[in-house]
Amino acid sequence: MNLQEHLDESPRLKTWYEGMTAGMKSSAEEGFSHFVSGWPDEAHGFTHGEYLEHCDEVAHDLFMEKFLEMNMDIHHGDDMPSITVEFATFKQWKEGMREANPDRDDLGFYNYPCELCWSPLAGDRYAVTALPRDPAKTPNYETFRVCSDCHQFIANGQLPEE
Ligand SMILES: [Zn+2]
Repeated sequence: MNLQEHLDESPRLKTWYEGMTAGMKSSAEEGFSHFVSGWPDEAHGFTHGEYLEHCDEVAHDLFMEKFLEMNMDIHHGDDMPSITVEFATFKQWKEGMREANPDRDDLGFYNYPCELCWSPLAGDRYAVTALPRDPAKTPNYETFRVCSDCHQFIANGQLPEE
């Protein structure tokens, strides 16, 4: 059975599919036409700003550790000790964040509609990204919290159960 035959057979599927494709169409009109499963690192908060904050904390903790260690015997006129900090690279930090959050694209339960098909039922939401048709012209992306039906279709091309 092809897609159309499936949809013709089930009113529920048909409503869902029309909702989803309408959502995709309005995104495509803004230049974001290519849907993929998951969100980019930045959408999960794995940004360069967060990385710098992380480095700041690492340096601060190390300093405090050293400072407390020698606090007992700091004397007037003493110099501070030298501290060597080895920071993870931005790439290493991002990889670590991804490893620490393997389920980050399962967004959990939401009480508001799927952002793509607008099915009004509350439920589990999953991360989906619409990428630009022309990255040179539209150098960004759109993120969506979608229902499991929409997510499954985008991730594997599978139709939902009826
Ligand atoms: Zn949906």
